[in-house]
Amino acid sequence: MERKLADTDEWDVERTYMKPYQKTGRGEARHRTAPRPREPAKPREERRPKEADEVIKEGKLRLTFYGAAREVGRSCIMVEGKGTKILIDAGIKLGEVEEHPMIEDSMLKHIDAVVISHAHLDHCGYLPHVISNGFNGPIYSLKPTLELVNVIASDYLQISKPKGIKKDAIAKMPKHYKMVEYHEEFRVKDLAIKLVPAGHILGSAMVEIREGDNRLLYTGDINLKGTKLLDPAYTEYLNAATLITESTYSGKGDIFPSEKIVMAGFTESIKETLNKGGKVIIPSFAVGRAQEVLFLLDDHMRSGSIPKVPIFVDGMINKAMRIYRHNVIYCKQELQKRILMSEDDPFKSPNFHPVEGRDDRQKVIKTEGAAIIVTTSGMLKGGPVIRYLEKLGDSYMNKLIMVGYQAEGTPGRELLNGAKEISLDGKKVKIGLKVEAYHLSGHADKAQLLRLISSVKGLKNIFIVHGDETKQKEFAEELKNKYKVVLPLLKEHYEL
Ligand SMILES: [Zn+2]
Ligand SMILES: [Zn+2]
Repeated sequence: MERKLADTDEWDVERTYMKPYQKTGRGEARHRTAPRPREPAKPREERRPKEADEVIKEGKLRLTFYGAAREVGRSCIMVEGKGTKILIDAGIKLGEVEEHPMIEDSMLKHIDAVVISHAHLDHCGYLPHVISNGFNGPIYSLKPTLELVNVIASDYLQISKPKGIKKDAIAKMPKHYKMVEYHEEFRVKDLAIKLVPAGHILGSAMVEIREGDNRLLYTGDINLKGTKLLDPAYTEYLNAATLITESTYSGKGDIFPSEKIVMAGFTESIKETLNKGGKVIIPSFAVGRAQEVLFLLDDHMRSGSIPKVPIFVDGMINKAMRIYRHNVIYCKQELQKRILMSEDDPFKSPNFHPVEGRDDRQKVIKTEGAAIIVTTSGMLKGGPVIRYLEKLGDSYMNKLIMVGYQAEGTPGRELLNGAKEISLDGKKVKIGLKVEAYHLSGHADKAQLLRLISSVKGLKNIFIVHGDETKQKEFAEELKNKYKVVLPLLKEHYEL
């Protein structure tokens, strides 16, 4: 089922995607009025993307979305040139059930290279599978990304134990790694590829792909605002006819409040709990959010705006912190200077107390008085945060503060929705502590996404991925007058 961008009627957002739709029993979105001519349903086999034999004309690119299509998670896009197939990202989706990209294993041996945008599981968690099932090419990314990928992928395998992974997958991964620098063009056969800073986490990149003059830009996850640790995404000299953009916060209401207001609420809330002698638990993704939160807390303690109490750091955050420190050259200059020119190394702040192992954790739980605990996992799906909630979650003295995205179907989302009892690791846990959320996201909001889009020269087509469908439709509505907008479907081909 090939679709070409030239077939305007197929690509008209209003006709194809803006029709009223209803939810079916299985939660899939279905059009109430069929936007396409009815044809007898083909058996699934025939609908599959065709394999390596199908010829792509010189100068053309073909996209197939194996994940992150009308959802957040399992980012995995195949980009094909005339004689080349690459995968951009190979992620998994964590939710009520774990979901993997829809690419068939038999296809993996035909892939020439994988490019990873950044080291979050929804962009790289499928790599052990890819390597265990026939892929034998290079994996391109920035040095810190590849280092972080190894740490978080091995942690993921230990916790989730997915099927179909060879025992030596993690050990073999570095043999595939090809480090590249930002702005340095490299080639995979007929495709020229360049990574540019995305501002989202350490080493995160947007991916530019060029086949002759046919240019494609993929945002990965992007942040246009500088953070405590990172410079904003690079938005100068972007030039592409086609953009594949994330849309995590692209809905009508997704304009983030000013950082000042968020921070005021965040610190006030922490202060309140600490002053009463309670403990503040901050669940966080190990890579990115945790480091930003730790630096914020440290700054506020130094300035006296929150009381000085121990900040216990548990889970993979500590390992990720060390990788950030080694790769400080990829952080913003201010931070590099602080480390190089003074004795003051914020990565080694005396306020941080790493928690190493179970005994240490028990001590933290039994520690009397106020403390802050920053720990994995961010959406309460596994990780030490579960142990803390089991022991500290029932007391009204304590507080849980969410700082990141909570996917539908995760215990984190349940708590945000007001659940007073949740199931963690199969055990029911009573929740008596206060639950609050502050927006410290590493993603662009709608205004930033629009700014990025307008900075891309020669832009004609926009594919919206990595977002909830409702938000994506709202976003498409805003863009459709100026661009050809597509909310891609899983496993379908799009030719550019
Ligand atoms: Zn990310
Ligand atoms: Zn993501």
